[in-house]
Amino acid sequence: MYPSLETTRLSTLFFPISHERTPQTGSERIRSATGLNWLTILFILLSAFLPPIAAAQAQKQILQADERYKVDILLVVAHPDDEGAATPYLARAIDEGKRVAVVYGTRGSSGANEAGAEQATALGDIREIEARRALSVLGIDKAWFLGGKDTASQDVLQSLANWGHGAALENLIRLVRLTRHEVMLTFLPGTFIGEDHGDHQAAGVLATEAFDLAGDPSTFPEQVSAPLRRLEPYLENLRPWQTKKIYYFPDADKEDIFRGKGPKYSVKEISKSAKQVYWRVALESFRRHETQAKGFIDSLAKMDEAQIEKMATSDFWSNGISFVLGKSLVGGNVTGDVFDGITPGAIPFARPEVSAAISRPELSLELAGPWTYYAEFRREHGLTHLPHPEPPEIALQAGMELVIPFWLRNQSESAREFNLTVHLPSGWSLESGDGKFTVAAKQTAAGRIEVRLPLLGESAGSKAEPQEVSVHAESNGRTVGDVKLRVELRKRALPE
Ligand SMILES: [Zn+2]
Repeated sequence: MYPSLETTRLSTLFFPISHERTPQTGSERIRSATGLNWLTILFILLSAFLPPIAAAQAQKQILQADERYKVDILLVVAHPDDEGAATPYLARAIDEGKRVAVVYGTRGSSGANEAGAEQATALGDIREIEARRALSVLGIDKAWFLGGKDTASQDVLQSLANWGHGAALENLIRLVRLTRHEVMLTFLPGTFIGEDHGDHQAAGVLATEAFDLAGDPSTFPEQVSAPLRRLEPYLENLRPWQTKKIYYFPDADKEDIFRGKGPKYSVKEISKSAKQVYWRVALESFRRHETQAKGFIDSLAKMDEAQIEKMATSDFWSNGISFVLGKSLVGGNVTGDVFDGITPGAIPFARPEVSAAISRPELSLELAGPWTYYAEFRREHGLTHLPHPEPPEIALQAGMELVIPFWLRNQSESAREFNLTVHLPSGWSLESGDGKFTVAAKQTAAGRIEVRLPLLGESAGSKAEPQEVSVHAESNGRTVGDVKLRVELRKRALPE
């Protein structure tokens, strides 16, 4: 078929000829008889006789992102049952039409088991199902597990190492790009007197990193590359995604430093869909975690309604559900609703506003470990406003060891000697780490002070008031640094 030849032949046949100069032609007779313009007739004939042109212009379907996996809220936590920190709020958000997905860092394989004999990896298999069942009470059917291992420690750096930080982040960024959520909710990255679980903190660190990186097309670019063949096995065809807001909830005992830093929700209002108060929806969800709380769940059967309500509203969610605003790229009030300022549609990738580098004197002593890390983390992620205790603090089990990691920095042109002295509350004993150290020119050396903690006295109850430990550093008789740490002794606490 040669369209140009067809067109030539047809146009010759129907070309209009002037009435004045020539006698009426066949084509004009057709026009007169039908009342159709010659162009209209040309179009009809072209459409009928030239199917290849018509076919080339038909739209082909290009598959787009799967809308079934688009959500409004992504909750990022560490262990199955951690979602309980947010379930009363999630139930409310779902009532308002929001879609929710949850990411767990681990499958909880090193937790207790009150329901059966299974432990370790087998327990993780059970707890994954418990988490899915707990979420299904709220109508949430999207949950993923990053594959991290449980870490019995308050040190976020140990948790990140144990989870495989890089692979976990890669997985989480993939899920951010898959779920294209508006808001991320997660644990507050920081170290506090409280449960202060390193895994909880690691969830908050990874979520923050994913918030800042998932919108960057050069981060894990294979995830956002177009496929090169029909059954593409490597390139994922996702798109970069910039989450609009991130909120944190702290894993700390005291809430005063977080007050007024974000929205707060009552747990006592009635859920429109469940026709019961939000705390009860959340409690119903929590009951699915039999391995973690069978004793507690059984005890509910022996309590009356008033007792259950008192426990839920004065022990579990006593102050309602509060969040700390981490970042908003869409404005809105700090204490306003989580979805304040959010409108549908993607927003451009936003690099975090990095604060100025921490300036240090030529010689310095600095508290190392998670404390130095979090100072850098807040600076790098535009989070210097995040509440953190000053001086730094930790709760530890009485009778155990306190380790104070430190950096000795020598930015001068020659080797320098540092002299460290440690000041401890009475009854606490220094095991090692003080004395004289030489640090070479332009070098930073790591050291640690080890302290044996006393047992709790009979009168102290389950915990004692926090006490201050300090380390003093001199060089050539001149003070070059002091670090302080507030330490609370408890009957039970995670290792440092
Ligand atoms: Zn947990």
